[in-house]
Amino acid sequence: MATQLKGSEVTKAMKDKMTAQVEELKERGITPTLAIVRLGEKPDDLAYERGAVKRCESVGVSCKVLEFPEDIREEKLVSEIETLNKDKNIHGILVFRPLPRHINEEKLKAVICPDKDVDCMSPVNIAKVFAGDESGFAPCTPEAVIELIDHFGIPVEGKNVIVIGRSMVVGKPLSMLLLKKNATVTICHTRTRSIQDICKKAEILVAAAGRAKMVNRDFVMPGAVVIDVGINLDENGNLCGDVNFDDVADIAGSITPVPGGVGTVTTSVLVKHVIQAAIKTVGK
Ligand code: NAP
Repeated sequence: MATQLKGSEVTKAMKDKMTAQVEELKERGITPTLAIVRLGEKPDDLAYERGAVKRCESVGVSCKVLEFPEDIREEKLVSEIETLNKDKNIHGILVFRPLPRHINEEKLKAVICPDKDVDCMSPVNIAKVFAGDESGFAPCTPEAVIELIDHFGIPVEGKNVIVIGRSMVVGKPLSMLLLKKNATVTICHTRTRSIQDICKKAEILVAAAGRAKMVNRDFVMPGAVVIDVGINLDENGNLCGDVNFDDVADIAGSITPVPGGVGTVTTSVLVKHVIQAAIKTVGK
């Protein structure tokens, strides 16, 4: 039976480190603070916001939620972000996406200050991820996968790693982070032929396709590490990953559960980034 790679173990270790860092910052008069920019009241945004606020507060990071109507004018939103950019008491900015259609997301991405861009919206931070430059902020979910891999001491160098999915939110940046760790990375997508045969060669298989339970035992090499990034609803409306956990559990070597795997770590990475952003301001 596969070992479960539980996100809670990773977040616990991260929490201890982050609490100590925040205490040190507070002694210097700095309270790391995240500004959350939300347009409207989408249930998904509200749920993520509640989780983020709770996780921030659990280590002493402050949160400031800025809620605007969904039909906010683009110029007004840009000017609000510019105000946050200049505010010395704000260290991280998170803007919930997707944005309403009338807002030009590309324009907004360029407005957010890269030093406060804790979820890698800015083209500057995206470019750094692709250049293997670790001085910026990677997107939280791909970095959560790396945190998990590091926490459980899973060797990556030289390993055959297959990532299913090539989005800019997960698949592509994650592939770059794995490449930076010297993995041999293959990216699969909807046009990939013989995907099962390819995945079956993976020593580490990462599923980020957004397809409920698509990865069954036919995709998995015996003993492989299976990391499930997917968050989907199954036919009964229950939360499930991209991996058919029950089918894969007796063939994989280790596997992340959904819920309770990568998603749990993602919010902690966001908090980690806010603290890192605050640390960078020390002495400025
Ligand atoms: P996305 O933008 O829809 O991208 C999905 C990717 O998977 C695309 O590249 C697509 O290929 C590929 N794909 C879809 N079906 C496939 C199939 N049958 N075979 C092979 N490849 C397939 O989704 P996303 O934003 O990357 O998110 C992926 C999953 O991660 C979702 O379930 C999402 O909810 C979850 N997620 C989790 C977290 C977290 O914190 N755990 C955060 C973000 C997202 P094409 O490019 O060819 O279309």
